[in-house]
Amino acid sequence: MSVKQRLLELQEHAKEQIKLVKSIHELNDAKAKYLGKKGAFADIMSMMKDLTNEERPAFGKLTNEAKVAIQGYLDEQKIIIDEFIINEQLEKESIDVSMPGKKFEVGKKHILTQVINEIEDLFIGMGYEVMEGPEVEIDEYNFEKLNLPKNHPARDMQDTFYITDETLLRTHTSPVQVRTMLANENKGPIKIICPGKVFRRDDDDATHSHQFMQIEGLVVDETTSMADLKGTLLAAAKKLFGEKREIRLRPSYFPFTEPSVEVDVSCHNCNGKGCNICKGTGWIEVLGAGIVNDNVLEASGYDSKKYQGFAFGMGVERIAMLKYGINDIRSFYTNDIRFIKQFKK
Ligand SMILES: [Zn+2]
Repeated sequence: MSVKQRLLELQEHAKEQIKLVKSIHELNDAKAKYLGKKGAFADIMSMMKDLTNEERPAFGKLTNEAKVAIQGYLDEQKIIIDEFIINEQLEKESIDVSMPGKKFEVGKKHILTQVINEIEDLFIGMGYEVMEGPEVEIDEYNFEKLNLPKNHPARDMQDTFYITDETLLRTHTSPVQVRTMLANENKGPIKIICPGKVFRRDDDDATHSHQFMQIEGLVVDETTSMADLKGTLLAAAKKLFGEKREIRLRPSYFPFTEPSVEVDVSCHNCNGKGCNICKGTGWIEVLGAGIVNDNVLEASGYDSKKYQGFAFGMGVERIAMLKYGINDIRSFYTNDIRFIKQFKK
């Protein structure tokens, strides 16, 4: 048999055998078998010594062509094997859509956050900006600039957690009003609401918590009056407790407003006839408000002869308790999931 015939035979044999290979491991074996040092070509190369010098180049050329062809078969088969492996993998990892899925619990906003968002939306709609400030405050902003100098008896209305003589946990969100007025360099008009946590040294019971949330509002400009305050609060009462609600103002006292009022809303539960929620009066006290005291404007650099305005403040827990019939303020903070889950939105 001529060398050429042997080479063609070997090539043909390799072609058929390599087609049967099913794994990378077998493919490596096949490569060693045909192209390795001790492989099929070793025998053929040994025939070289019987050739004349003239015959050798042609022999070399044929051998090379056969090697290249066999390497080609190996490469082709590798592509087929790779594809097969990928398909097998996909098969294994395919998802059975008929299997029951995992149940994901979707979190909900806390009821207090929901109420705050609702109140924010209402006031943003009336052109207010939402402002926030620190919960650890200095005495000057929490009291002094709000017309509550040191040793003023009205400070007793707010039992306070002092950190040092000059720093404390804020007792109301009013210092955010001070900060906003101070930061307003051109002393122009202001229209803000400030939601946030406040702290008072109270013994916790069904209606008291040492930590609670407030939303306060402040409007300062050249014309805003008590009539604007009343209209604003009526709009808020209707939004929070229903279109049929009315409000009434009773004279009151706060150091930072003058005149000051307590604001009652007609009872949403009995429509004013009298029930246990309104303690038989038909009215529910929801917030305090008033015309900004001149001293407060002056303390933050506003000219009280030119500027005036109103401020109001409400407890978010109280609004939520009235709205949703919650009878214990501690429920908001004890993180009982059964309580929290009731207020899905
Ligand atoms: Zn009532």
